Parts: sequence; structure tokens; C-alpha cells
Amino acid sequence: MVGSAVGDALGAPFEFGAAGVFSARFAEPGYGGEMCGGGGWEPGEATDDTQMAVCVAESLLERGGLDLPDVFARFQRWAAADPKDIGLQTEDVLTNGLPWDGAAAEHFRTHHRAAGNGALMRAATSGVYFAGRGRAATMAAGRRLAALTHGDPAAWEGTAIFHELLRVALNGADPFAAVPDALAAAHPDHRGRYATVLAPDWHPEQATEFNGAVWPCLGSAVWAVRTTGSYEEAVRASIDLGGDTDTVAAVTGALAGAVHGIDAVPARWTGPLHVPLPGSGTRVLRLVDLLTLAGRLAGSPENGRP
Ligand SMILES: [Mg+2]
Repeated sequence: MVGSAVGDALGAPFEFGAAGVFSARFAEPGYGGEMCGGGGWEPGEATDDTQMAVCVAESLLERGGLDLPDVFARFQRWAAADPKDIGLQTEDVLTNGLPWDGAAAEHFRTHHRAAGNGALMRAATSGVYFAGRGRAATMAAGRRLAALTHGDPAAWEGTAIFHELLRVALNGADPFAAVPDALAAAHPDHRGRYATVLAPDWHPEQATEFNGAVWPCLGSAVWAVRTTGSYEEAVRASIDLGGDTDTVAAVTGALAGAVHGIDAVPARWTGPLHVPLPGSGTRVLRLVDLLTLAGRLAGSPENGRP
């Protein structure tokens, strides 16, 4: 969760920029100014990706499990409070006046395109919560949470696969070795496209869509963690891809954090990290709050752990 929030905040100022901008500006890893802010973001400020993930986290804890109408209502309260950024599709679904179980489907029926990465980007908290419950349960939860805002089953399957890779990593195993089993558990209609972007030799330059789409976003995150040796290198590589940098880095950061652990997330990045929560008063979560939240999600009795 911290890895995701840090990636989000680190990548946000570079959103829609070209490839290589981050490392051109911060050539030396370890330089202290990388959490630089810009583009309307304060240094260390997390964006909608993390804010929505916190909505999911607090619903899971307060409702004692997956309460989809409650998650949707929290998303709506957040969207109504004028967050600095919100995905176009997410905004439409949360404000079109339709109920929780019809809004995303109606958007997909009307627009035919709903395979953005906007559900993938907020999966770190639910990924932690369901990590103790096994593959089927975490993949099912990933699908249902994605479907709240994304009517395209491609987004559901991508989020389900990501939940499973997080589960494997959080349980101390190799998420890349788990890709074939995760694909086998995905819906057959979507297996092929994910098999392509999750293949060991796939590179983000081979993407056939902008990385705001779910397939290249997930593929790029897995590529960034698989081809680097540290949390820091993975997140730098993901931001250097350009495009939807906050979300690709949020997804990368979640997996990199699960693989490398909290101690691998640089203190110079977690120090300025903060998560404003529009629609939730003036609360701003800091590192310690995220760690507390993560501990409650990981240790909650509902998820099968002591
Ligand atoms: Mg964002």
C-alpha cells in the first residue's frame, strides 16, 4: 500500500509526459528532490489512485468485508468533493445517477470502451485485505471491485490477475512464477491478451494501446518489477515509460512493495508522502496512517489471518 502511494505521488507530476523525462531530470538515483511535485501536485501528494484505494480500505474495515454498495457510496462522496483528479470514465459512472450495480454497465453499454486502468490503480488495499484468503477469493473480489466503475470485463480480469500477483508476493512467493496459474484462473475470453503483456519477453514498447488502458498498464508494472532489482529501480523505470505515469507507478509500486518490502521504499520518498481525502473532512493520511491501515487490513479477522 505504501509502495503504491509513493509511486502515485512520485509519478503524478510527470503524467502525460514523454518517456525518459524522470531519469533525465533525476539522473542520479538517491538524489533527494525526486518527490518534486508539479502539475498541480504538492511534493509527496498522492492522487486519485491512492485516495480511492483508501475509500476501499476503510469500507472493508468498517463493513467487515466486501460491501459493494458501501464502496460505491464512498466513491461517490469522494467524487462529489471535487478531487484534484478523477478518471473521465470513473467520474461519469459515479455521477450518472444510476445505482451501484448499474452505473458502470450502462456506461459500457453506451460508450463501448471501458477498459481503462482506473480499477487496477486502486487495488493495493483490497489486494492486502484479500491476500490471506486464497486465489479464488482474491480474484473474485478484484473483479467485483473493478466492476463498480468499469463495465468492461477486461478491466475486471486485469484487476483479478493483479490481486492474485499481490497475494502471491505478500505471502512471500514469486509472483512472476505465478503468472501462468493466474492466467489459467482468468476468464478465457481475456486470457490471451493478458498472456501477451505478462510474457517474460514483453516490453512496454510493444503495447498496442496507451498505458491508460488496463492491459499495457498491468504489463508495464509487471515488466518494471521483473526487470529490476529494487523497489526504487522498478518505480523509476515505470515513470520513465511516460504517459499515465501516476497510475503505472502506483500499480508498479504496489507490486514492487509487495516483492521487496517496506524497508525497500526510500525514506526520502515516504517522508513527504501524504494522502488528502476529499469528501472525508480535512483528513490527510501520512506514512504512519497508511502503515496502520495496512496492518488492520492484513490482520483483520475477516480475512482469515490471526
Ligand atoms: Mg491519479
